[in-house]
Amino acid sequence: MRLRNIKGSREMIAESPYTIDNPAQYKGKWQEFFGNKAPIRIEVGMGKGKFISTLAMQNPEVNYIGIEKYSSVLIRAIDKRIEKNIENLYFLRFDAVDILDIFDEGEIDRIYLNFSDPWPKDRHAKRRLTSKEYLKKYNIILKKDGIVEFKTDNDDLFAFSLEEVPLAGWEIVAQTFDLHNTAEMMEGNVMTEYEKKFSALGNPIHKMIIRR
Ligand code: SAM
Repeated sequence: MRLRNIKGSREMIAESPYTIDNPAQYKGKWQEFFGNKAPIRIEVGMGKGKFISTLAMQNPEVNYIGIEKYSSVLIRAIDKRIEKNIENLYFLRFDAVDILDIFDEGEIDRIYLNFSDPWPKDRHAKRRLTSKEYLKKYNIILKKDGIVEFKTDNDDLFAFSLEEVPLAGWEIVAQTFDLHNTAEMMEGNVMTEYEKKFSALGNPIHKMIIRR
């Protein structure tokens, strides 16, 4: 992602009531934070937040948390939240490598990973958000029948992810190499910013849904 350093974005985020400072204080208490018993779904690496803000508007009965490590894109998601007054959506400026610090066992209902950074060098494989190291973390925070949904146009990252799933003891519920031409998986699909961009270039979009 091309990142412009937007002046003051860190300060704006610190002041925003929609971005949670010190999220570790809510570990095991996220439903209390939302003030209801609704399921909690998260997107890791949400970028500018088009996907998660659309989902949150479509499903007001679900709680959503968008996680993004860079302020310069996160502020765009905050703008959308304010503009549309999306009450069931909050944000964390946070590096997901430490995700176990902020969510407790079985606290999360669903995890979305969209167009995650590919980290093409072998020595960086552990940083890929679909690596077995990350799947181990998701295994802890996801509830028993929780799922991970992953979309990408990157062939190598998708192939790598398909290999990691069984290695981590997970299984594939559904998969496609061409989401936009797979009617049963396309139903209800919400496009992300990157999905819009790359599908417009003619890149097929790959998707997998996985569970333990
Ligand atoms: N999901 C969006 C989409 O599909 O349009 C953005 C995709 S962009 C290629 C990947 C985003 O994930 C970037 O904004 C990046 O900063 C964020 N990201 C990557 N690794 C992350 C991590 N470990 N924790 C939090 N955010 C991360």
